[in-house]
Amino acid sequence: MSRIAYVNGRYVPHGRASVHVEDRGYQFADGVYEVCEVKNGYLIDQTRHLERLDRSLNELKMRWPVARDALPGILGEVVRANRVMDGLVYLQVTRGVAKRDHAFPAATTKPALVVTARAADPLAAEEKAIKGISAITVPETRWDRVDIKTVGLLSNVLARQNAVEEGAQEALFVDEAGIVKEGASTNAWIVTKDRVLVTRPAEHGILRGITRQGVIDVAEKHGLSIQERGFTVEEALDALEMFVTSATSIVMPVVRLDGHSIANGEPGSVVRDLRGAFHSVAERTPVYGQLN
Ligand code: PMP
Repeated sequence: MSRIAYVNGRYVPHGRASVHVEDRGYQFADGVYEVCEVKNGYLIDQTRHLERLDRSLNELKMRWPVARDALPGILGEVVRANRVMDGLVYLQVTRGVAKRDHAFPAATTKPALVVTARAADPLAAEEKAIKGISAITVPETRWDRVDIKTVGLLSNVLARQNAVEEGAQEALFVDEAGIVKEGASTNAWIVTKDRVLVTRPAEHGILRGITRQGVIDVAEKHGLSIQERGFTVEEALDALEMFVTSATSIVMPVVRLDGHSIANGEPGSVVRDLRGAFHSVAERTPVYGQLN
């Protein structure tokens, strides 16, 4: 089936979807993005994703590319045009097209909006979660404002490539004090031996993950203890369980870190329960009308 992308007001065949060579996203990574999960024909946590987009745009003094309340309609249209039941929808806003110059272009420059969607195999994701993934640690090399979801992801790209070359699936950034920050595209968590969930506070040094917040909601609902604090690599190696969260992986067990097994090297029950409960707590917006 042919894929469709939304580019600045038009729905176009994916293979021919393009932006101008002087788009500031292309030249300066002067743009922000969001990735939302589509599950069973529902968009997951759309409200929180749009709130975070609003924050990212404000932090970078960028305008909304379309009226805020028009964006859910565009996301839904792209998901439907691509007949995605399970997968993700990606949106990117850049400061627009202008003659290359570092300073902001004229205020009349229109921000650019691109939206794409693609299907993912839910069974493959389950199989991955049953096995768990391996992660490596890498030193933090990113700028300070990783709380803004910009498309400037080169450090994340290099870290993930590093992981892949070492036979792992995720790289975790570690600060100078040896404290885990987050993954290349995930937030990082451990479950301590006394069954406390630990994740770094979202004020500084990490992206405030929407799935991270969802897991906090699930944990609170299920009466699990949570500590928002940093944890060291040593603490992770000694943990009962470890996992990462993101809109694309939801709750994914980490069973090996830097080549060492976490506990017995198999996903544990806390992670399994959190993963199982996540979608019953998250906001679900029907894309195809009410399905179930
Ligand atoms: N941290 C980083 C660096 C990310 O790129 C992502 C994924 N966008 C996350 C955390 C997880 O965020 P979310 O749960 O909103 O997908």
